[in-house]
Amino acid sequence: MAYDFDLYVIGAGSGGVRAARFAAGFGAKVAVAESRYLGGTCVNVGCVPKKLLVYGAHFAEDFEQASGFGWSLDEAQFDWATLIANKDREINRLNGIYRNLLVNSGVTLHEGHAKIVDPHQVEINGERFTAKNILIATGGWPQIPEIPGHEHAISSNQAFFLKTLPKRVLVVGGGYIAVEFAGIFHGLGAETTLLYRGELFLRGFDTSVRKHLQEELTKRGMDLQFNADIERIDKQADGSLKVTLKDGRQLEADCVFYATGRRPMLDNLGLENTGVKLDRKGFVEVDEQYQTAEPSILALGDVIGRVQLTPVALAEGMAVARRLFKPEQYRPVDYKMIPTAVFSLPNIGTVGLTEEEAREAGHDVQIFESRFRPMKLTLTECQERTLMKLVVDAATDKVLGCHMVGPDAGEIVQGLAIALKAGATKRHFDETIGVHPTAAEEFVTMRSPVAG
Ligand code: FAD
Ligand code: NDP
Repeated sequence: MAYDFDLYVIGAGSGGVRAARFAAGFGAKVAVAESRYLGGTCVNVGCVPKKLLVYGAHFAEDFEQASGFGWSLDEAQFDWATLIANKDREINRLNGIYRNLLVNSGVTLHEGHAKIVDPHQVEINGERFTAKNILIATGGWPQIPEIPGHEHAISSNQAFFLKTLPKRVLVVGGGYIAVEFAGIFHGLGAETTLLYRGELFLRGFDTSVRKHLQEELTKRGMDLQFNADIERIDKQADGSLKVTLKDGRQLEADCVFYATGRRPMLDNLGLENTGVKLDRKGFVEVDEQYQTAEPSILALGDVIGRVQLTPVALAEGMAVARRLFKPEQYRPVDYKMIPTAVFSLPNIGTVGLTEEEAREAGHDVQIFESRFRPMKLTLTECQERTLMKLVVDAATDKVLGCHMVGPDAGEIVQGLAIALKAGATKRHFDETIGVHPTAAEEFVTMRSPVAG
């Protein structure tokens, strides 16, 4: 049977655009549907605007530290509306770039909500199109627990478009988004409290990293409240919010920001018209080649709930395009040693195993750790300290994990990730000449293990 398209991609986000462009480049006839914004979450309400706001927040400490270097400034003023307007302009520019990328690679763009009507057919804006394969790349959506008053809370989707910077913000959650946005609000001058339900935030990260960030954020005056969970939120007559915790305490805020994870975006997608199955957490179930239980339908990115990061969605998009249209070039995505950064202030950068994971996996580990005051701060009052940590397998000398909390940690860890991927040993690190004077050189000068 002749189909309208070889591949119909639903969702023009990180993974969908990558799969569509490469499939078209391999000669396939491709369409992509997008209901909201070209570039998806990352470009519009994720990585990109978030990083711009983090840069904005960072200026607070830059201004503070400048006086140590002889600069004097009148009291710095910050205008939220200017930052948001400039951010919006940049995102508009990127939306245009994404449109050109698709159109110039020969992909047909359909703007509207797409619904699957059968395993080879999609409906959009009242029209139906047939396709040999359909790719679900619909991403995720913030998930706020349905406690009484949850309608008064916002998620990251709204935070990027607030008209004014709230004076008092309560951030709920202890993952990437909560920690990053707490840093943004705090840096820009809001009184910020971070509430996390467990003992210590950033579950899954190395314990030294979690504790170090806790100390640094506390030093900066952020209010961290762990073992704290909200029971209800009430709007008061003056518009402020009264938050009642499960332990009975009450807090007041002008904005309650929830960052408690993301669900797969499957709303009105028509999965009931297919044999696609979901896993026990509700994400689309796929095999190792991204095929769902319905042979003509594939899925990738946040909607499959493996690793919710843009570079992972990109790699999956590439793998799908190759698998379908250039099988001789197909290489499976390697999910080991994925480097990642939390753009908190200060940043976290990490790759490989945490100390806890290495011990659990049965490695006899050697730990190298360095804590120091960054050189840039020696002429300032700032008491911030950087943490660097290496987890090494004592038997093979292989470096199993690198972890850092400090300025530019994300930038530094990208290069280390290549070394770890190539199987670097501690001896390789030791024999590498440092770049002086940098913070990064500390990773090649740690000599004595702190724990075995
Ligand atoms: P998405 O990018 O979400 O794209 C899905 C697209 O599908 C959307 O545009 C949506 O509108 C569209 N769509 C959905 N349903 C339909 C339908 N039925 N019809 C038509 N279109 C539809 N990752 C990082 O690596 N680094 C970061 O710094 C980072 N920061 C983040 C910050 C925040 C606040 C958030 C929320 C996420 C962040 N992420 C970050 C994660 C990253 O954004 C996601 O992992 C990535 O965008 C997933 O890509 P995707 O292609 O799976 O989905
Ligand atoms: P995460 O899964 O990272 O964190 C969710 C947090 O919310 C956890 O601390 C979790 O606690 C807590 N939580 C979950 N449910 C509840 C609840 N019902 N009540 C109270 N707390 C709850 O999700 P995020 O929303 O922060 O981010 C989603 C994903 O987006 C990330 O996992 C990451 O993959 C990606 N992302 C990446 C970024 C980057 O690369 N820099 C930046 C932002 C997002 P517990 O630990 O106890 O389960």
